[in-house]
Amino acid sequence: MKNPAWLGEPFAIKDNKIFLTKKVAKRLLAEAQEAFPYEYSALLAGRGATITACVPMPVSPDKHVFAWDGKTFLQALQHIRKHNLQWLGVLHTHPHTPPIPSARDIAGWHYPTLSYWIVGLATEQPEWRVYQWVQDGSCSSFAAIDYTLTEVDCDDEETNGSSAPKNS
Ligand SMILES: [Zn+2]
Repeated sequence: MKNPAWLGEPFAIKDNKIFLTKKVAKRLLAEAQEAFPYEYSALLAGRGATITACVPMPVSPDKHVFAWDGKTFLQALQHIRKHNLQWLGVLHTHPHTPPIPSARDIAGWHYPTLSYWIVGLATEQPEWRVYQWVQDGSCSSFAAIDYTLTEVDCDDEETNGSSAPKNS
């Protein structure tokens, strides 16, 4: 079955390259540092392979990104759809550990087409990592990939247009 139009496939285009606007990166980092020592998380949205927006999720003292309750999660998805964007990934922080997916992260991930970002805040310089879910036969896991920071922000006029994002 085909994915709905709002569910992005950032890795299906441009040779697995994924882009994040500097504006969104800056905002994510500021909010992540504000949430410290708690874990911060957000949904990432945009078009194609470029993340141009983020929807912060409530900071959970339970320490895990997938402690999002269903209602909050659906509201965030609705926000993305309403702005005619695609859901392209999630980001969460590891306030005290390196930005490597934990066993819980791996077990809790159900969106293999999306990008998975972790920002490690245990070091003096925040460490950004982005992962792609890779299925290799019966074995699947997160693989770290490169990302590109970009100035481009197609978040303005274009998103008010009438054409829905196409997944083909
Ligand atoms: Zn984690």
